[in-house]
Amino acid sequence: MKKIAVIGSGLMGTGIAYAASVNHFQVQLQDISTKALEKAEAYMKAEMKKAVERRFLTAEEEIESFHRITFTTSMEEAVREADLVIEAVLEKMDLKIEIFKKLDEICPEHTILATNTSTMSPTEIAAQTSRPDKCIAMHFFNPPHKMKLVEIIRGLNTSDETYESARQVAEQMKKETVEVNEFPGFVTSRMNCLIGNEAMNMLMEGVASAADIDKAIKLGLNHPMGPLEMADLVGLDTRLRNIEYLYQTLGEKYRPCPLLTKYVKAGRLGKKSGVGFYDYS
Ligand code: NAD
Repeated sequence: MKKIAVIGSGLMGTGIAYAASVNHFQVQLQDISTKALEKAEAYMKAEMKKAVERRFLTAEEEIESFHRITFTTSMEEAVREADLVIEAVLEKMDLKIEIFKKLDEICPEHTILATNTSTMSPTEIAAQTSRPDKCIAMHFFNPPHKMKLVEIIRGLNTSDETYESARQVAEQMKKETVEVNEFPGFVTSRMNCLIGNEAMNMLMEGVASAADIDKAIKLGLNHPMGPLEMADLVGLDTRLRNIEYLYQTLGEKYRPCPLLTKYVKAGRLGKKSGVGFYDYS
């Protein structure tokens, strides 16, 4: 495993590409949006600079890491020689399926296809390809170059060899892994969406302010981040898609809080749009 292509250069794709390049993989980062690629490039430069200032990277490693990444809008170019493709586009099943079908057609035979989905079925995505044994979910966390965990989820037909390759790639990226059997939301999103949704319901019911809900959970329950600041970091559009999927698959317990739906309709998407449960302007 030497060459990784990352499809989608949003919040997650950018961080995954960063983590891969500083850990010696050749990386092709692809997006349909040139604006998203430009933003990704600028973000990576800034993060690498910070890493040098904090002595996580030497100046030489910074230059080498940056040179290991190519930014492109062409999926064909991105995956031509890839050993592993990590898909990190929007949390929409039809879009993920469309991309996996195309990847299956254009990737070399040996390429492993991984999805960074937070909630969805890798089996359903893999079933649309001719290589379900080489499909898997690698669920990174935000920000991917800082968070320690990768949840690895086998689809029904994922081979042991594919699982082991994904685990080794995560390990080379200096991540801890957990092996999870496929079920909507895996371990982390299933728990995180529930806590976040309850916090949003409490805010909507006027139980406490956003700041006091987060403070109570941090200081009272010893969580490092409050559930509302966490939702802002994830992106409220992404969180809404995640919880809608869990509502469809797991039922009533996951009914999306109407306040979340209202914020997304208003374009209040959290940190990435400048305002969500908190104002970042
Ligand atoms: P995002 O909205 O920040 O980025 C998605 C990117 O995909 C955008 O840049 C968009 O231009 C690109 N894209 C859309 N269609 C495309 C296509 N056809 N080909 C190539 N690129 C395309 O989303 P995100 O927050 O990075 O989430 C991506 C995935 O990661 C989702 O499945 C999400 O559930 C999962 N995830 C998100 C988080 C989080 O905290 N945000 C954490 C873990 C996993």
